[in-house]
Amino acid sequence: MSDNPFLTVADLRAGYGGAQVLHGVSLTVGQGEICAILGPNGAGKTTLLRALSGMVRVRGGVRLDGAELAGRSPDTIARQGVAHVPEGRGTFMPLTVEENLRLGAFVRRGRGAVDADLERICTYFPALKSRLAQVAGSLSGGEQQMLAIGRALMLRPRLLLLDEPSLGLAPMVTQELFRIVRAVNEEERTTVVVVEQNAHLALGIAQHAHVLESGRIVLSGSAEQIRADEQVAQSYLGYR
Ligand code: ATP
Repeated sequence: MSDNPFLTVADLRAGYGGAQVLHGVSLTVGQGEICAILGPNGAGKTTLLRALSGMVRVRGGVRLDGAELAGRSPDTIARQGVAHVPEGRGTFMPLTVEENLRLGAFVRRGRGAVDADLERICTYFPALKSRLAQVAGSLSGGEQQMLAIGRALMLRPRLLLLDEPSLGLAPMVTQELFRIVRAVNEEERTTVVVVEQNAHLALGIAQHAHVLESGRIVLSGSAEQIRADEQVAQSYLGYR
């Protein structure tokens, strides 16, 4: 873990109505790092990302670059530079690829900078560049996931939250997607928290990982340490 954390989650408790899902989650992520969150279905991984982006309200325990995010609206948190790509992607299907991308810049002003970012983001996603005028609903699953990530990048995020980016995608497409996430992380210095069922892929790009079970972190370490853990190997990597 980082000595000088960019994102600090401290004793985070969150849930829905009376049902508590996260029972005191603590972790840190250093600036420019990729952090993977692994764990079984229902562990609370999505709820953790929702708490970070304000979609689930929490009372305290989330700091980004020293500023408390807890209790703020999703819109305010987006303005602080947190972009959330939810499971299911949240793409506006009847709109074109370009319109979807421009929506990602909703909290920003300055058309010139937005145009330049659109151009820059298309260099990461050549498949989108050639389809800018196409409606999003006509894209393949992989292209839609690229669009969702591209739209999040239009916010110029300091923190990118990715929920199950590989869901429903073919292995080749997923590999390409993760390669692009790594490239964005390296070139833009965007800090990334990725929730992922495909532990192989996530550990392939992450520096650190945490295993969440029943709303609690049960294991934290470097990607190598987590990969070498006997139980993780059995439960999430499909060997030993
Ligand atoms: P999965 O991989 O299946 O998405 P997860 O680790 O992301 O699992 P969450 O989606 O955070 O887990 O769900 C954790 C718990 O919270 C589950 O018991 C789930 O049923 C419950 N839950 C999730 N969303 C809601 C909601 N909107 N209202 C009530 N309960 C919810």
